Amino acid sequence: MEKLSVETRFSDIEYNIEKIKERIGTAAVKSGRSENDVRLMAVSKTVEPIFINHAIEHGIDLIGENKVQEFLSKKPHLRLDNCEAHLIGHLQTNKVRQIITEVSMIQSVDSVKLANEISKRSESAGIVTECLVEVNIGGEESKSGVDEGYLTELVHEISEMKALKIKGLMTIPPICEDETRLNKYFSKMHRIFIDIMDKKLDNVDMTILSMGMSSDYEAAVMNGSTLVRVGTALFGHRIY
Ligand SMILES: *Cc1c(COP(=O)(O)O)cnc(C)c1O
Repeated sequence: MEKLSVETRFSDIEYNIEKIKERIGTAAVKSGRSENDVRLMAVSKTVEPIFINHAIEHGIDLIGENKVQEFLSKKPHLRLDNCEAHLIGHLQTNKVRQIITEVSMIQSVDSVKLANEISKRSESAGIVTECLVEVNIGGEESKSGVDEGYLTELVHEISEMKALKIKGLMTIPPICEDETRLNKYFSKMHRIFIDIMDKKLDNVDMTILSMGMSSDYEAAVMNGSTLVRVGTALFGHRIY
């Protein structure tokens, strides 16, 4: 791949943020909501701090990182005074202690074991950690996330944990060539989200539905997403 100059990447990032926000706004309005009802997360995995900071200077107030180690090593170089960071990647229990005080939310809680560890460590640190429960909506074997059939039980269990608070749900649907199938996954997620919200469980606050990435964030917004996680379409292709 051709290596772009820093200046070119800076102006691409500025342009992309504008364009993505515009598209989110249009999709939100089409689905009977306002552009302010959908939050844009810039997914910054593999992206160097200089470009992340540039995005923050141009209106990004939420970033998402996948890996604990990568985020911790980049964090001292990030200007996060007016920007939140969430962990969105799979989290191993042995990394929980390191990350809970460094991000404002963990979007990838998908087991009682992990939830217990986060709650236990948060309690020792004197904090309450906010989280989303990740749902494997396509029931794919290789994917992380809790299966739909086990979701209610997991939400109930977490609602009883002292130092962990559910703020909503997150999902990565299967890769779909066909728009109709994709929309089915998104609308199914939205229905599950509303069902749990209607139960009005103690200590469960169903306000965030995190779904939609570079290739499908407009479809996700049309189906009720309140937070889209956009990487490639904002920062350009990732170089691993
Ligand atoms: C990488 C990643 C994204 C962003 O993917 P893009 O297709 O680059 O927008 C969103 N969510 C999660 C959980 C990711 O790992």
